[in-house]
Amino acid sequence: MRKAIVKDIEQVVKQPKRILSIKEDETAAEAAKKMSSNHVGCLVVLNAQGEFAGVLSERDMLAKVLATSLSPDNVLNKDIMTPNAIYCNTDTEMAKVEQLMAKHNIRHVPVVENGIPVGMISSRDVIAYRLHSNKAMKAAAEQLAILSAKLKDPDFNNILKIVINEVPRIFEADRSILYFAQKHSSTSMIYRKGCSLSEEDLPTQQKITELSENGWIICGKICDKCIKSGGEAPRLVIPLSTCEQPGDSDNTSISHHGFICMCRFNPPSAEQEELQLYKASLLQEILNVNLTNSKLYQNYQKARHDSETDPLTGVGTRRVIEKALKAECARAIRYNRSFCIAIADIDNFKQINDNAGHAAGDKVLQELAKIMRSNVREMDIVARYGGDEFVILMPETKISDANVLLERLRHQIETISLPNIPSVTISCGLAEWDGSSDTAELMMKRADAGLYAAKRAGRNRIICEICA
Ligand code: GH3
Ligand code: MG
Repeated sequence: MRKAIVKDIEQVVKQPKRILSIKEDETAAEAAKKMSSNHVGCLVVLNAQGEFAGVLSERDMLAKVLATSLSPDNVLNKDIMTPNAIYCNTDTEMAKVEQLMAKHNIRHVPVVENGIPVGMISSRDVIAYRLHSNKAMKAAAEQLAILSAKLKDPDFNNILKIVINEVPRIFEADRSILYFAQKHSSTSMIYRKGCSLSEEDLPTQQKITELSENGWIICGKICDKCIKSGGEAPRLVIPLSTCEQPGDSDNTSISHHGFICMCRFNPPSAEQEELQLYKASLLQEILNVNLTNSKLYQNYQKARHDSETDPLTGVGTRRVIEKALKAECARAIRYNRSFCIAIADIDNFKQINDNAGHAAGDKVLQELAKIMRSNVREMDIVARYGGDEFVILMPETKISDANVLLERLRHQIETISLPNIPSVTISCGLAEWDGSSDTAELMMKRADAGLYAAKRAGRNRIICEICA
């Protein structure tokens, strides 16, 4: 990161009137008058050619007075003024100026460029500058904290949209592009604000990886077409990445690489640069943490969805129905409500597989699941319990109503029409919650007994407890 330098304190080097100088052949009386009338404690002493010759401070004068060796007519030769005075130039780092002041116990450091004094930094200037930059940094940290709160969105794409809308505003950049690519995949995301670069113009995955390793950069460019398309220096490029195995510093765990590149800053002053880089370093961490979190959340959601969805039919898995049944039993006990559970099994499914093939059998399972899903109510849960067996949980449903629904399903399933497959039928056992002494296990047992009875009675029928 570029350190603050003397020329960042604009008022020091851009206001020549502030440099109060005196010629080395003038007298102590004239120096005292100049100091007192201008309320300054230090003068730059120039030689006959107007070049920097040294510094005269109140302290120098006082030392001479105390040593009773000073007369008002004394000329400011090397006996009064500080010869070989400590000075700096416009590119000296502010930290160095502070060190010089502390080390030499001085409160003024002249700024000299090519032998000519161009400014004077007082300890007051240094303190004011620090206060100003601390204030600006505090304001920047507050801005980023507000952004950070907005980035709590669990959706990865939403986060990228927030980034392209908010980040250029924080940096006062009129032009920006946000690019994100997935490792080992051709899918990429691009969001722009005023930047017209196309995906082909942007760097390759390899280059983006290198960019990430170098950290954020200012003034660099992300591609050769940048200037042609209207981009200009300085640019700020913040590399971004997500790491889907937190705590793993190995580069292989980085799954997405990207960057946000900004330019056309307003105002583009040098004083802003340190602050910009400070903001960039904070922002990079905030963005990467939030992008990673949203990716992890997405992965978790997908894993959860996968574990709860039967891949062949799209209905719930056995796990889903077991969980829902437990919850429904608790609800039935607490609120004294009723519900039903049905177990349906395809009749002679083995024959379908044997005669038409396993793929045709799969198709039957898919069609059957589709019919079940489109006929049940929103509150009902359909799950594949295993093989050709499905379970339907019907909250707030009396057994007579559940029976009507299952009859409807049974008839519709009979209409499944697939090549080389004769009429598909199901047998079904149905059980209703039987009061507070009932349990999920007992209900399943009763529904299963109904199914077994339906098979024994010749299949293609529904047997419920009340009709058994
Ligand atoms: P029943 O009328 O007594 O139920 O006779 P069934 O032939 O249907 O017997 P059962 O229900 O025991 O047979 C289930 C068959 O379902 C056995 C298995 O090959 C088949 N099966 C299980 N899972 C799948 C699957 O994912 N796809 C296909 N095509 N068949 C499956
Ligand atoms: Mg079967």
